[in-house]
Amino acid sequence: MAWLFVAVTPAAAQYRTYTEIGAFLRDVSIDHPEIARLHDLGLSEEGRHIRAIQITDNPDLEEDEPEFRYISTMHGDEWVGNEMCLFFIDLLTDNYGVDPDLTELVDEIDIWIVPLMNPDGYVYVQRENVNGVDLNRDFPDPYTSPENTTEGRAAETAVIMNWTFASSFTLSANMHTGALVVNYPFDNNPEGADVYTPTPDDDLFIYISEEYSQHNLPMWNSPAFYHGITNGAAWYHIDGGMQDWNYHYMGSNEVTLELSNIYIPPYSQIPTYWSQNRDSMLAYMATCLIGVRGIVTDATTGLPLAATVTVVNRDHEIYTDPDVGDYHRMLMPGTYDLHFEAEGYDPLTVTNVVVSSGEATRLDVALEPPPQIVSPNGGEMLTVGVATEVIWTGDPDAQFQVQYTSNYGDIAAVIDGFEDGELGPDYDTGGNQVWYVTSSQSHSGSYSARAGDIGDNQVSWMTRSVSGGDLSFWYRVSCESGYDFFNFHIDGDLEIHISGHGGWTYYSTTLPPGSHELRWEYDKDGSQSHYYDTVWIDDLEVTTDNTEWFDIVALTDPGVMSVEWVPLAASDDYKVRVRRVYDGGGYGAWDESDGTFSVEAGLIGDLNGDGVVDLSDLALLLAHYGWCEGDANYNPVTDIDDSGCTDLADLAGLLAHYGETYP
Ligand code: ZN
Repeated sequence: MAWLFVAVTPAAAQYRTYTEIGAFLRDVSIDHPEIARLHDLGLSEEGRHIRAIQITDNPDLEEDEPEFRYISTMHGDEWVGNEMCLFFIDLLTDNYGVDPDLTELVDEIDIWIVPLMNPDGYVYVQRENVNGVDLNRDFPDPYTSPENTTEGRAAETAVIMNWTFASSFTLSANMHTGALVVNYPFDNNPEGADVYTPTPDDDLFIYISEEYSQHNLPMWNSPAFYHGITNGAAWYHIDGGMQDWNYHYMGSNEVTLELSNIYIPPYSQIPTYWSQNRDSMLAYMATCLIGVRGIVTDATTGLPLAATVTVVNRDHEIYTDPDVGDYHRMLMPGTYDLHFEAEGYDPLTVTNVVVSSGEATRLDVALEPPPQIVSPNGGEMLTVGVATEVIWTGDPDAQFQVQYTSNYGDIAAVIDGFEDGELGPDYDTGGNQVWYVTSSQSHSGSYSARAGDIGDNQVSWMTRSVSGGDLSFWYRVSCESGYDFFNFHIDGDLEIHISGHGGWTYYSTTLPPGSHELRWEYDKDGSQSHYYDTVWIDDLEVTTDNTEWFDIVALTDPGVMSVEWVPLAASDDYKVRVRRVYDGGGYGAWDESDGTFSVEAGLIGDLNGDGVVDLSDLALLLAHYGWCEGDANYNPVTDIDDSGCTDLADLAGLLAHYGETYP
């Protein structure tokens, strides 16, 4: 690529001040009205402006383009990134329409740049904001501050969060100094440990991090970090970091760029930093164009949808921009299944989507509304053996699966607060000491279960088998932090691994159908006992839904919107449901009837349901006489006593009611 030379003007041969940066951004937006817009995102604690400049073709239109951003100097005493942002702004605006590659990036990407996230800290040359808050420890964090709201957070954090909520960023980076490395998520993990903690997109993060570092030779050749990149938590974990928040909560990829070992290098070195970071900044930004992209719309109206997009077997959602419906799922080359969901629509999985290197694969998706049950839809009174129509609405070109249940709402619950004062027979316990029930601690009521009083290098465990369903319990851990541990396993898989001294904590998960073994364990290392030196469990609940669904029809013909169905047993807890079957075997969402309906025993012997036991019923019975379950000619309707065969007992039953009428 050929660049216009971007000179440092003599008057600006020092770091630009907060005021000068504001004036610079304003001037750029005035000088380049066709591609640049100045945005005031909000105010710092002391009322300084946090400003962004947006650079793209058609800056006033929402377009089918990925949104990208650079944010610098959330730490007020880390001063290289802010200048890199200003040089980058000049590079893009001065070369637009001149350099074809740069012009294409500006045309294809909605680029946002925030040179100063922490203007108060910048003015006071301090890391934190004016209230002493480290902004890169102030974001929502699933392990330490899970509520995704701005409540209780610094003004600067809230400004970035609110801006992000209103946008749909695909990719970003935030710039620091103090090291020379690209740091990619995760920065944190449930244990708060300094161990490699990959996201489900680890391959992608390594790739985009190296897209940055390979163009910056001092970084690429770093003696401290191989290829100048590191997983954040592998280096050192942090709570409340911005990049983890973007990935966990906002479906956006972000890395942390450490641009200089020296926090504030002499300004005379800034042109050198620019020459080392210019190509990196461009190459990194361009990666938001890889993977799969497209628009998600309503199949009927064609209007854009707010949808979630997931790669099957990657536990990470991204979101469409609801204004246009566009999504940009960055992915490495390969073959993927993509899953699309939007509220009020059938989910859709598109299999075998091929991603090549370079430009993203385009995959536009139209979502269909799900079918709806019309009848029976709750409150009806039907009769055993009498045919009824199950009717639904939906796409007349589609095929459907229809099911019924006669035990809707059959919920079994295990609830144990240990209020009997002892472990019941459902528990096993062992190890060096057994678990027992105590009144010394409880989450509710008077009792809880507690690990045995073990010593160093000992273990105390308790197990219980439960059925699949919704599992929850409360636990409290009080032990030596980092060495003695509470472990909780489901079917041998470790689900909780925690130590330290804390209060009662809630755990919940959904167990698949079938039997499962729960195992609670307190495990001590070779020395030291701190706090209460134990673990308590209370208020165990397992809710199992035993509702059994049976096919009325597994796959209708296209255009079929009703099916005849004969209920065969009495119950007040019937329900029917329907879902779309897509070409290739994928399923849409079930639509259930609104309420349950009843089926009552009819007139015995009235096999055809016409209200009278007569010759036509006798003829029907005789037509199936002697046939048993599994035979082609077996008919459950003529098997009046459900014995498995239409036999003499059924004939006798019919004759006993011969001539009766109903109701
Ligand atoms: Zn920093």
